[in-house]
Amino acid sequence: MAGLLEQAGYSPAAMSHESPPDRHIWIDGALVPWGDAVVHVLSHSHARGSLVFDYMSVHDTERGPAVFRLDDHLARFIHSTELVGLPLRQSAEDLRTACLAAVRANPGARVVKVQAYLPSVEIDVVPEDDHVAVAVAAFDPRADVVARKPGTPYRYRSSVRIWLEKERKQRRPDIMHPHAKVAANYTSPMVAKWRARQKGYDEILLVDEAGTLAEGPTTNFFLVDSAGTLRTPPEQSVLLGITRRSILELARHDGIPVEEVALRPEDLFAASEAFLTGTSAGVWPIDSVDGKALGSEVPGPVSTRLRDHFQRVTEGGDPAFAHWLTHTDEG
Ligand code: PMP
Repeated sequence: MAGLLEQAGYSPAAMSHESPPDRHIWIDGALVPWGDAVVHVLSHSHARGSLVFDYMSVHDTERGPAVFRLDDHLARFIHSTELVGLPLRQSAEDLRTACLAAVRANPGARVVKVQAYLPSVEIDVVPEDDHVAVAVAAFDPRADVVARKPGTPYRYRSSVRIWLEKERKQRRPDIMHPHAKVAANYTSPMVAKWRARQKGYDEILLVDEAGTLAEGPTTNFFLVDSAGTLRTPPEQSVLLGITRRSILELARHDGIPVEEVALRPEDLFAASEAFLTGTSAGVWPIDSVDGKALGSEVPGPVSTRLRDHFQRVTEGGDPAFAHWLTHTDEG
């Protein structure tokens, strides 16, 4: 018999968007249809923000689909579960097998999202049932989600207008470490970014306790100073972005001087170029901060060079970095 919600025309999946046909999500060893991949509204992860995740890109190459830096993403994912204290049962090898199986089962996937969560309905902050479920979704965010939400604008600009969020010091290792990719770490940036959006900005930049620049809500941050040195905040107050690491490695390879160093707002305003990096964003040029234009051209020459090299690498076009791609026939 149909439940009350179904009688009223709702299904859990239909509440936010129409399920894409033929998509399957790997959950604890089984591939389940997209619309059945649900948890209870009172589950611990939902109620307490304890879900840990990672997000990686999939690229078409001559040898078929390949995941970008799969092992590095999985190492970060496992580290996040350790920082949060989730008892994960799967090894890195198990997770690797699951990710490749999910990509094979979902042709045309552009990303892989791996999640560890406590599906149990819990009353207390500390769960009685600490079973950690793992879900791996391989899909195309635009075709499978954005296009299936009627009326959703696709917000993408080739460069971004930034608001510097100075009031709230968002990156605090003493509360929840910035290295943990856990849902709870996104709530405070969400509040700040939502406010900034209402004022007409696209993105925000977060500062740490000392007021030094840290990162965006889902991106890392770089600037190029007037001497042409590429500078990014040091590791302690940011998520260890895989794109951040890749850009640092590519810059060193290409002979661009690099510094991981504390940066102040005035360094940003004096920069000749600045950009954000992330799995979804790639290299994303910043064109203004708090309404003030940055540099003389956007994207600037260093940003353009790194953006293009990074893109070539992700598509398998640079043999020197071919080892960053894992093909689905490897596992
Ligand atoms: N910082 C935060 C807080 C993020 O959520 C992300 C997205 N994973 C990034 C930086 C960029 O990391 P990556 O390059 O691995 O996508």
